[in-house]
Amino acid sequence: MLDEKYISQLVESVIKNISSDNALAPGKNQLGVFDTMEEALEAVKKAYKLYRGYSVEQREKMISNIRRLTLEEAEVMARMGVEETGMGRVSDKIIKHQLVANKTPGTEDLRPQVMTGDQGLTLVEMAPYGIIGSITPSTNPSETVICNSMGMIAGGNAVVFNPHPNACKVANYAVDLVNRAIREAGGPDNLVVSVKKPTMDTSKMMMECPDVKMLVATGGPGVVKTLLSSGKKAIGAGAGNPPVIVDDTADIKKAAIDIVNGSSFDNNLPCIAEKECFAFDSIADELIDNMTKNGAYLIKGDMIDKLVKVALVEKDGKFSINKKWVGKDAGLFLRELGINADPRLIICETKENHPFVQVEMMMPILPIVRVSNIDEAIEMAVKAEHGCRHSAHIHSKNVDRLTAFARAVETTIFVKNAPSYAGIGAGGEGYTTFTIAGPTGEGITAAHSFTRQRRCVMADGLHIV
Ligand code: NAD
Repeated sequence: MLDEKYISQLVESVIKNISSDNALAPGKNQLGVFDTMEEALEAVKKAYKLYRGYSVEQREKMISNIRRLTLEEAEVMARMGVEETGMGRVSDKIIKHQLVANKTPGTEDLRPQVMTGDQGLTLVEMAPYGIIGSITPSTNPSETVICNSMGMIAGGNAVVFNPHPNACKVANYAVDLVNRAIREAGGPDNLVVSVKKPTMDTSKMMMECPDVKMLVATGGPGVVKTLLSSGKKAIGAGAGNPPVIVDDTADIKKAAIDIVNGSSFDNNLPCIAEKECFAFDSIADELIDNMTKNGAYLIKGDMIDKLVKVALVEKDGKFSINKKWVGKDAGLFLRELGINADPRLIICETKENHPFVQVEMMMPILPIVRVSNIDEAIEMAVKAEHGCRHSAHIHSKNVDRLTAFARAVETTIFVKNAPSYAGIGAGGEGYTTFTIAGPTGEGITAAHSFTRQRRCVMADGLHIV
């Protein structure tokens, strides 16, 4: 016999599930989203077989449908992402989706090479890897699924995603969107798949499946290390802690506005966002003044210590992030300090060794460290970047200093005199990606990163000259 308490718990949980499903999904059955990883892998294998027969023109039609649906549903996904993860800003997440839709390359990114000479003609073409396993983060969940899907499909691949468990509803919404776009273009069902409830076990199964030929990880150091130890071809897009330098030749007002905009974008969730600032002592007051006039709120003294206790966790003298506070609005932090204000960004002056400088926080809090010259600035910035080779930024008009910093920091993205997001094509030239592969060197990943080279040689001379 079932007791009353059990039945009421059961009813409550069913209602909760139904209402959250309805709030987050267009229909009950999302295309490409399976109960188990076994089913997902079976389905994607069938889809990939069919996809081998599709033309480049058909690939492009699917991609253009993905662009359109992403633009149409950008706001839905932005709201869903904030609702599910409790992180970021809806307005900024809309921009991120628009960026993915408009600036992720398609098949035009695949550039074959031709070599001709006395000994004939050789052709190098970019071929698919096959089925790619992709692990995606909680910070850009649907953006990464869509961006990866476009690049991987453009390269002729199929994809199996294991999204971050805390962001899997919105990630799976994106998987469904991609499949709807593919179906509408006459493409195969389940070319992009995922699981309803991703776990470490589903991730392991995906990584170990012999049919999965390439692995792509977008996330922190743990997942990149795991993938690189898999024995398979792997692309690792790992953590960063981007510094920004402001020297005495910069346009200080512009630098202040750019840094506030870049550092507060989506509440500092993007891995490329300015996370600590090194400012020449001679311009630091002017910089701070301009920042506070343009969306930043300055805190001082014991307020900084209080904020450390909110944002970070200390264990044996080592600091790490308090996960509950990642990507929260600046106003929520200030309320914890008893301050009623709602700025985009909190700024404070600290020393170089302060945990706000050294820890990748992903919170709208920017520490500013005064430096006396460029050598000191570069030394501190390189140290704070921790060798991630991810992103670094500078505001300066002195070419020698720009070059010296770029050489010393060796990052994949280096932005001069603009907000950090210019580095992924928002207000800067170049295409976008949400998988920036510093550790494995593919850099700003796109379709070509998800292909393998194949050479075809014809030795009996096919020439027109
Ligand atoms: P996270 O590392 O917690 O999770 C990322 C993904 O990896 C998730 O799907 C998670 O489930 C999985 N994962 C984590 N540890 C794993 C392990 N040992 N084995 C297998 N899977 C594992 O990261 P997050 O909090 O979602 O995202 C923020 C981090 O990602 C930051 O460090 C940020 O810099 C980085 N990031 C990098 C890029 C880039 O392009 N380089 C882009 C976005 C985020």
